[in-house]
Amino acid sequence: MSTKELRLTHLEDDRDKVVIAGPCALESIQQLPEIIRQFQAEGIKIDRLPIWKPRTVPGWDGLGFTGLPYIFAATLPNGLIPALEVLCSEHAQLIVDCLRGYSDDVPILVWIGARNQNHWVQNRIAQILAPKKNIFLMFKNQMWDDEKHWLGIFAHLLAAGFPKERLLSCHRGFSPGKMPNPKGYRNLPDFEMAMRLKKQMGIPILLDPSHMGGSRENVLEICHLARDFDFDGYMVEVHLNPAEAFTDSLQQLSLDEFLQLAEFMDISGLKKAA
Ligand code: PEP
Ligand code: MN
Repeated sequence: MSTKELRLTHLEDDRDKVVIAGPCALESIQQLPEIIRQFQAEGIKIDRLPIWKPRTVPGWDGLGFTGLPYIFAATLPNGLIPALEVLCSEHAQLIVDCLRGYSDDVPILVWIGARNQNHWVQNRIAQILAPKKNIFLMFKNQMWDDEKHWLGIFAHLLAAGFPKERLLSCHRGFSPGKMPNPKGYRNLPDFEMAMRLKKQMGIPILLDPSHMGGSRENVLEICHLARDFDFDGYMVEVHLNPAEAFTDSLQQLSLDEFLQLAEFMDISGLKKAA
């Protein structure tokens, strides 16, 4: 499998995007069928459904492993691609174990988040996931602004034996620290750096406008700004009822807002892929 499998299947054109949408976190098993139903009806093929949540301050940190068999049962037999974050090697192993009995035909997207910068842990995750040929591994940029470190994550994952054809990266911005931040972005983009690294690494690079923006207005603005850059796709937080979301409620788009954005971002082929 190659990252082409993650693109909307009906599109042959390389310009077409990897689109990952879904809530900041899956909040209950009861919520799952409705998310799947509404997203599938709109042609969203890669469902963001994290169950392990790193948090800035302690709080609800995800459903945990309990959710995993339900996620796989709701997505994989329907040809939908689940996408979720792992924080440690134990999570990676649980994913591999839980996939027993499923065909290897449907891709799964796993990512390493910005806060997870212990290379030893990253290596272990990569080693555990590498043998499963339908698992794609995405790594976000780290929290702090450092091009060399971002490139270093890539080098570590390759050194751990994870094949380049199944690696993606994701720009989620850098912690503003004392940088000027007039719009109050949660994390500041460096689109030029992302494009330089895309070229250097030779893998697809997605944009996460949600964790950059921190608010719906900022998410939309960032997507507008990013349109001039050659991102290979987007991971956007979309909640069926953002006001009630357990986490990151201010930055999650409603499904309608996301569909409007998708139209603007030229990923309106979503519907046709359903
Ligand atoms: C996330 O995507 O759920 C997340 C925690 O984001 P980040 O790793 O970018 O902080
Ligand atoms: Mn979030």
